[in-house]
Amino acid sequence: MTVEEAAEALSLPLFRLEGLLERGTVAERDGYLRFKKSVAGKERGTAYFEEAGDVVRGFPKIRRILMLDPGVPNRFEGEVVVEEKMNGYNVRIARAGSETVALTRGGVRCPYTEHWVHRLMGEEAFSDLPELVICGEMVGPDNPYVVSDAYGVESVQFFVFDVRRKGSNEPLPVDERRELVEGYGLSGVRELARVGAGETDEIREIVEDLDSRGREGVVMKDPAMDLDPVKYTTSSGNCKDLRYAFRYFQEYGADFIYPRAVREGFQAVEFEADMDERANRLGRAILEPLAETAVAGRKGERILEPVSVRVFDLSVVEEFERHLRSTGVDAIFREPEELDDGSYRVRIDRVRQGTDDKTANLLAGGFW
Ligand code: ATP
Ligand code: MG
Repeated sequence: MTVEEAAEALSLPLFRLEGLLERGTVAERDGYLRFKKSVAGKERGTAYFEEAGDVVRGFPKIRRILMLDPGVPNRFEGEVVVEEKMNGYNVRIARAGSETVALTRGGVRCPYTEHWVHRLMGEEAFSDLPELVICGEMVGPDNPYVVSDAYGVESVQFFVFDVRRKGSNEPLPVDERRELVEGYGLSGVRELARVGAGETDEIREIVEDLDSRGREGVVMKDPAMDLDPVKYTTSSGNCKDLRYAFRYFQEYGADFIYPRAVREGFQAVEFEADMDERANRLGRAILEPLAETAVAGRKGERILEPVSVRVFDLSVVEEFERHLRSTGVDAIFREPEELDDGSYRVRIDRVRQGTDDKTANLLAGGFW
């Protein structure tokens, strides 16, 4: 690759890209450049594949509202598509030259994700769609990044929520995307309703139903995708996040915890919630995981986050272990367990060293 070619493909002045490379805002990995931050009109996670010359734009941030009314009618006109917001990790699948690659949100190719994408869709997946990026959520229990048990998925499954044009990042309209997804025999996220922008009571009922089933929330979209989507989450989703963050309290700071608490306050008012019930749920989501961590520390247990992967080829696990290490994650890989169908499940304990050290220190009477 020459930097000139990359700059041209990314429509950036040469000096600009050189500066970004120098400062490390754009970094080189095996055969591609990735944007570690949103900069120069490119989303975080944008990737440039050197040999193929392809640019895959990052997945745009989705803004959040805390009040359905008037948040929804203020942002949409006419019809609004209410989709389920699934809780897993964001993956973009695209062709880069003669390969089908899978990128995580930050624009890193993940060997575990590619293993599953190739298995679910074939190595040549989307070779007939070289100009499109298939965006979706990787969901399920055998998930090294975001574990979710709420969807009845056996290991991991990919749910498409967006299809975008490669260089411009322009999304397909909702119906066109659904047709394409169905045509390829893929799963898409569920469309829960189409309502008028003013019908926030209906959206609220949907949210309450999702909440009672431990689901994360909704993303509201303009059918034509001309307006930006907006997200809104359930109380159980917010509390699940809090529970997780307080379990590993030293790894998650105020920027993660504080907005989730604020969401709960505003939702309690809009939904005229039973305050005792909400306070109980919110309080437990904070207190219980902290106590669990303290008790584990007292017993001399290390603070680990258990996750698992399932593969059909053990070499993927080795590759994935190298991959995690290269992204700065410290993890203990356990012995593979062979399953009936010849696949393997490997339990991985992610080391939460910060919380482990802090817990030990506090239990020994250290200063906060
Ligand atoms: P963001 O930067 O978009 O705010 P975040 O990392 O804070 O992202 P979330 O709060 O989970 O993420 O919300 C946005 C993410 O939700 C998207 O990036 C996508 O991975 C996921 N998602 C799940 N279901 C959908 C859906 N139906 N439509 C769009 N995105 C969805
Ligand atoms: Mg998410």
